[in-house]
Amino acid sequence: MNKDLRRLQSMISEKRVKLHIFEPSMRKIWTVVGIGEEHWIDPNCNYCSCPGFYFGELNGKTTCYHLESALLARKENKVDEIIFSDDEFSDFLSGLISDL
Ligand SMILES: [Zn+2]
Repeated sequence: MNKDLRRLQSMISEKRVKLHIFEPSMRKIWTVVGIGEEHWIDPNCNYCSCPGFYFGELNGKTTCYHLESALLARKENKVDEIIFSDDEFSDFLSGLISDL
């Protein structure tokens, strides 16, 4: 196993890939918890809020390891799912944005 893949596997086994599901609308927000920070990602749109992704400092790659770990977690069905109610959606979103 190469170093990158091992890093992704540990992200997943430490449950750092989180899928927040808001009911009953079933809106979904993905986050990946990095070192001392949480990043908002969208695996469907290939988006991550981390600076590396934003500034394109990914050495020619089109994804960062947050996105890669989310895609791998989804593939292996090891996403940490957390259920919220729709009432909490706007609070959750503003909390997330203020962290960015
Ligand atoms: Zn990222």
